[in-house]
Amino acid sequence: MKKMIALFPGSFDPYTIGHYSIVERALPLFDKIVIAVGVNRNKQSLMSEEKRVEAIRSLYENNEKIEVISYDGLTVDVAKKYGARYLLRGVRQVADFEYERNLAEVNRNISGLETILLYTLPEYGHISSSIVRELASYGKDVTDLLPPGMKIPKKQE
Ligand code: ADP
Repeated sequence: MKKMIALFPGSFDPYTIGHYSIVERALPLFDKIVIAVGVNRNKQSLMSEEKRVEAIRSLYENNEKIEVISYDGLTVDVAKKYGARYLLRGVRQVADFEYERNLAEVNRNISGLETILLYTLPEYGHISSSIVRELASYGKDVTDLLPPGMKIPKKQE
């Protein structure tokens, strides 16, 4: 049987406890999850792409089911390159749902890739990278919003 590989694409600037929770819950569903850090030229970033990849890799260094990569370009092309037949995404509220629905539709149309959506746990529904970025830029402690053991720079780089 073909391996069940999922690509979890995102900006992950930074990778939050919400993202972490989605991956933890998706792990039993797949043989492998490739976390793909996308380069977004339109967003001002808190952490460089290399730092994001490094921080996420160190979280999962003992987990051989997870690979962390960075990419620039179309998500479906990266999925193909890594043998992923599924895209993993998370949904918090209605706005996410609408957005994810369009994205899933486009990705399925252009490549046949199916998107697997997991609803957030209620306790993480309010957490977004942009809120973490904003708090961190004012020097606030964001430890509780990040995966256990992860650290990010307090001020903009
Ligand atoms: P993008 O810029 O591609 O939306 P993000 O890094 O913001 O990338 O998010 C990646 C995925 O994780 C998206 O599907 C997003 O909806 C989901 N996500 C973000 N925050 C949470 C959270 N707190 N709970 C569940 N899913 C989340």
